[in-house]
Amino acid sequence: MQKGLTAILDQLDTRDWLQKALFEISEVNKRPTKPLDYFYASWAGDCPRGIQYIMNGLMPFDIDAKGRRIMDNGNYMHTRYGDYFKSIKRLIGEEPAFRKDMDGVFISGRGDLIVLDELEKPQLIELKSINDRRYKLILNAPDEGDYLQWNLCAKALGFTTGAVFYENKNTQAVKYHYVTYDEKRYKIVLDDFLMVKKYNDLGKLVPKPEVCPNPKWCAMRKSCK
Ligand code: SF4
Repeated sequence: MQKGLTAILDQLDTRDWLQKALFEISEVNKRPTKPLDYFYASWAGDCPRGIQYIMNGLMPFDIDAKGRRIMDNGNYMHTRYGDYFKSIKRLIGEEPAFRKDMDGVFISGRGDLIVLDELEKPQLIELKSINDRRYKLILNAPDEGDYLQWNLCAKALGFTTGAVFYENKNTQAVKYHYVTYDEKRYKIVLDDFLMVKKYNDLGKLVPKPEVCPNPKWCAMRKSCK
């Protein structure tokens, strides 16, 4: 019932200029799905079958205007924390980018912030804006997928230490975990990417994982066999 009501309220009222403007913004900012021949660092730890779908332009981009705003809110967290660290003169880099061959796969990505610690040593900080439910699940360690992503960026950018930093988007509470570069975690990601590359080259579908890691939200959940 509540969902139905939300759907009705979300319907476009063409007499309302602001609603029309918001609709136009969401249309203009839609990103078309297109085939890719390289990997994004942000895919570290993701379902290999899902990565293959994205690389081949098969994963539908089904984020609506609200989803887009949620995503953008997370992205702008980087700007905000960049400003925070800048204000205490500890920021030395924002969104350091890389595009390079890493042991046989071409990877594009970027870290979030480079911040000086108390010994003036640069630390790579990965920022995550997460909801209350996920925030409560982060206890003694960072989320493994987030660690894998930080780890891959650390390898590419030449860092050995840093932190995965979480902000609760419902409450603005924060927590973080210090992390160190781990070769084993790098190999896990690399092996996944190499497998996807191999199956792409063969023109075959990557085997579906025994347990689907994202049965509720994956846009391919109905057609992925
Ligand atoms: S439905 Fe599950 S197994 Fe298939 S691509 Fe999506 S996450 Fe992977």
